[in-house]
Order: sequence, then structure tokens, then C-alpha cells
Amino acid sequence: MKHAVVTGGAGFIGSHLVDRLVSEGFAVWVLDNLATGSWDNLAQHPDQTVHRIFADVSEPWNMDALPGSIDVVFHLASPASPVHYRRLAVETLMVNSQGTKHALDAARRYQARFLLASTSESYGDPTVSPQPESYWGHVNPVGPRSCYDESKRFGEALTAEYVRSYGLDARILRFFNCYGPRMQSEDGRVVPNFVRQALAGQPLTVYGDGHQTRSFCYVSDEVDAIWRAAVTDNLAGEIINIGNPEERTILNFAEAVAAIAGIPLTVEPRPLPPDDPTNRCPDITKARTLLGWEPQVGLEEGLKATFAYFRGQSPN
Ligand code: UDP
Repeated sequence: MKHAVVTGGAGFIGSHLVDRLVSEGFAVWVLDNLATGSWDNLAQHPDQTVHRIFADVSEPWNMDALPGSIDVVFHLASPASPVHYRRLAVETLMVNSQGTKHALDAARRYQARFLLASTSESYGDPTVSPQPESYWGHVNPVGPRSCYDESKRFGEALTAEYVRSYGLDARILRFFNCYGPRMQSEDGRVVPNFVRQALAGQPLTVYGDGHQTRSFCYVSDEVDAIWRAAVTDNLAGEIINIGNPEERTILNFAEAVAAIAGIPLTVEPRPLPPDDPTNRCPDITKARTLLGWEPQVGLEEGLKATFAYFRGQSPN
């Protein structure tokens, strides 16, 4: 049986990744401090298959809790919602720097493959669209989002250096906006906010003029990309965007949510948070070419499944 370590495996994307790994025959060691995740997301797995280790991966790792061999380390641990990473700003900086170093060191020690979950925030407020991996970004290094953006960029730099200096078999994925079941309803991101508000018959809180754009990838597509990146050879040092290239304005997204909910769209305007990126759309040419991947789940299908989860009809 193959062995995987998933930091942040009790979180939204992490727990779906654990499901996939288990279905592919892996035993998984999940390291999580539950800052934004929950063991409830892994309740479907017995302890013999999914080993739950309560740990802050920014602190030195207790190797005694890990198995004798590890095939792959996935480093996903980090707050990812702007509301959460503002609240946990220093913790976010540490998990993406010190935590990344600990995860890389573990992969090096076990001669395991390594996968870094990075972010489209590496591009900041981009001046080119769509964003290819070759774009260096346009990031405020000291703004309210920098605890996330700059620490993820540092994590990328550190990972790239472990490939160059130590020959680690590491790859970097830049996740664009992802959504689906197991997002926390109160995490402040646009998907849970709008879905929760629509279900309660409340106006949707649109920040700014709603003309800023995002691209929303359903979680099963996201996890399929992570899986492919993990099992594909010759990707050491590669950086790959993972996201849905269908770009839409937040206002248009609000319309889509209202339509699925079957309610007329009413909007409650709110101020735009500082440094909120004006646009975001992945160029997924590399994902198509290197992973043979592209998203399969359209917005309507994905939103329906997300609504079902938030209605409590679909706990997993
Ligand atoms: N947003 C919004 N209403 C909300 C929450 C977010 O209009 O209730 C906007 C936010 O300003 C941003 C976009 O939706 O432009 C996506 O925000 P989110 O927090 O989901 O993630 P981000 O892409 O900013 O990391």
C-alpha cells in the first residue's frame, strides 16, 4: 500500500483529496491543527486508512507519528479565505514559510514526491489576462493580503530551490478560486456567502461595483488535477495553474446563484476590500498539455451540488 502525507487534510480541498487518495488505495497521514478545517470532513474514513494527527505544521514535526515510508507529501495547510488569513495573519505567514520548509524536509528525508498547493494570489492584481505561469505577478508586498500572497510566493521559491539544490521531485500547483461541498458557510468567501444568503432569502452582498472577475473551479475537478499532478512523472520544478478558465464578473456570478436558488437577484452593495484583485483567469495550457486535464463540471452543476450541501442534504 502506498503512503501519503496531506497537511491541511481536514480542510475543504484537503479532505476531498484524502477521499481520492483512499479510493486510489493509499493510506493517508493527515496533519492538521484544525485552524480552519474539521475532522468531521474525514468522518467517513476509518483510523487505519486515514491517520489523524493534530499538529501545527509550522512547528517541528514529530516524525514518530509518521510511517516508515512515504511516497508523496501534499502541502495544503493554510488558511485560504481572505477573512481567515486576515484573522490568522502571522499564522498564515508561518505555515506557508516554516510549514512549507518542514513539509519539504519531510519529503526530502523520505525521498518522497512533493506537491505544493500554491495560489493564483501569486499573481496579485494581475496586469495580464489570462494569467500564464510565466507571469511574475503584481503583488503588494506589505498590504492586507500580503500575509497570504507573499508567504505563498516564498513557499514557491523554497520549493523551486529544493528542486534545484537537492533534486527533490517537487511540483507547484497554483489554485484559482475553487468551490463545492465542505466549504465553511461562514468563511467569508463569495461562494459560501452568496449561497447562504440566497438560501436565507437575503440580498447578496456584492463588494465594490461587482465588475471584478473570478473563475470558479468545482472541487472534484480541482482534486482530479492534483491527483494527475501527483502521479505524472517528469514534473519536477513545474508550476501549473489549476482553475476553470471561464471568467465571470462577481455580479454575473450573483445572477447565476440567484437563478439556481430560483429567487430574483437583490444586491446589498458593500465596500470593496483593499487590494481586492480586479481580475483573475487561469491560462490552463500547461495543465492541458502536461496533465491532460481540464475542468468537466460547469457552474450550474457545481452550484447545485454546493446548494445541496449547504441545505444539509449532502453531508459529504
Ligand atoms: N465578494 C463579494 N461578496 C462577498 C464575498 C466576496 O462580492 O460576500 C467578492 C470579493 O470582493 C472578491 C470576489 O468576490 O472580488 C472573490 O472573493 P473571495 O473572498 O471568495 O476570494 P478571493 O478571490 O478574493 O481570494
